[in-house]
Amino acid sequence: MIHREYGRTGKRVSAISFGGMRFPNVADEEAMAGLVLRAFEKGVNYFDTAPGYNQDKSEIIVGRAVLEMKRRGGAFFVSTKSGEEEGGKVRAELERSLRRLNVEAIDFYHCWCVMSMEDWALRKSKGAVAEIRKARDEGLIRHAVISTHLDGEDIGRVLEEGHFEGVTLGYSAINFPYRGAGIEAARRLGLGVAVMNPLGGGLIPKHARLGFIRRPEDPSAAVSALRFVLSTPGVTTALVGCSTPEQIDEAVSAADPFRPLGEADMADVRRGVEAQFDKLCTLCCYCDVCPEGIPIYQMMNAFNHLLLEGDDKNLKGQLKWHWGIEDVSGALAKCTRCGRCQAECTQHIPIVERIEEIVRRYQSP
Ligand code: SF4
Ligand code: SF4
Repeated sequence: MIHREYGRTGKRVSAISFGGMRFPNVADEEAMAGLVLRAFEKGVNYFDTAPGYNQDKSEIIVGRAVLEMKRRGGAFFVSTKSGEEEGGKVRAELERSLRRLNVEAIDFYHCWCVMSMEDWALRKSKGAVAEIRKARDEGLIRHAVISTHLDGEDIGRVLEEGHFEGVTLGYSAINFPYRGAGIEAARRLGLGVAVMNPLGGGLIPKHARLGFIRRPEDPSAAVSALRFVLSTPGVTTALVGCSTPEQIDEAVSAADPFRPLGEADMADVRRGVEAQFDKLCTLCCYCDVCPEGIPIYQMMNAFNHLLLEGDDKNLKGQLKWHWGIEDVSGALAKCTRCGRCQAECTQHIPIVERIEEIVRRYQSP
C-alpha cells in the first residue's frame, strides 16, 4: 500500500482509505470491527466515519476497532464530522464522537457536507467553523477539514478562505467534470484531498456498460476506476466503503502495488464517459426533502438505468421491482416543480427535467 502526504499536515495517509458507511450488519459489532481491522492489516491507515452513518452505529464500530489498533500499535488516523451549523451543537457532537471513537483527539475533523454557498455562510455565521478551529487549538482536533458537495469552482472559493487543511469531495471516473476544479484548487493551495464515492456510488462495479473503464491489465472496472481517481493530480486518498473482506482486498489491490494510469488511459476513460453518459445519480439521498413525500432518490437512481441501458424497460423495472413503487404516475402527479430536491442534489442533476421525462415515459404505452 502506498502512502501519501496529506497536504501540509505532515501525515502520510494510505492511498486507499476505509469509508465506514457500508457496514452490512451493524448488530454484529465485532464482525464489523473485523472489517476495519482487515483493512488495517492491509496497510490502510485512514478510517472515515460520521455520526449517523449506519443507523448511528458506524462510529461505535470504528471505535471498537480503534481499541484493537491501539493495542497492536502502528499509526492510524480517524476522521469524523459534524454537519451542525451552531458552534455549541458542533461541540456536543465532537465530544460524543471522541467518546465513541475511543480517542483523545480526532485526526481529521470535518465541517460536514456543505451543500451550497448559502449553507457555507451559515456555517460561519452560526459558529460551526469557529468552534472547529477552537477545538483544534484545544487539541481535540488535529486537522480541520471540510467535506462538501459544492461544484469545483465553489470548492476553490471556500478553500481559498484558509480555514481548512484539506477537503473531502465526491469524484470518480463518471463524475470527474464537476469537481475537477476543486481538486485543482486544493492542489494549488497545498491541501489534502480525500475522495468519497470513487466508484460512483457503487454503479461502476455493477454495470456492464461501465465496463469500458476497465483497463486490460486490471481484474475489474472497480480497480481501474480507483486507479483513475488515484492518478488524478492532487488526490491524496480514495475512501472506499467496503462491506466484505473481498471488497477490501479488491480496493487495496488498486494501490498495492500502485500503477498510475497513463494520460492516454485517463483520456480514454474520460472520452468514454463524455460520449455515453449524462450526470448519474450516486444515491447519496440528500435530495430526500420533498414536501410532497415523493421518493425522489429512488426515481433518480432508476433513471440511471434509463441512461445506462437506453430504454425505459429498465427504468420501469427498477421502480417497480427494486424500489417497490407501483404508482409512479400517481406519485409524480403530486410534484409541484418547486425544485427543492434539485437544489439539494450533490451531483447537480436536473431532477425536475428528469421528472418530466419519467412522466412522459409513463404516459406513452
Ligand atoms: S420538485 Fe417535485 S419532487 Fe422535487 S421537492 Fe419539489 S415537489 Fe418534490
Ligand atoms: S438525485 Fe442527486 S441528491 Fe438525489 S440521490 Fe441522486 S445524486 Fe444524490
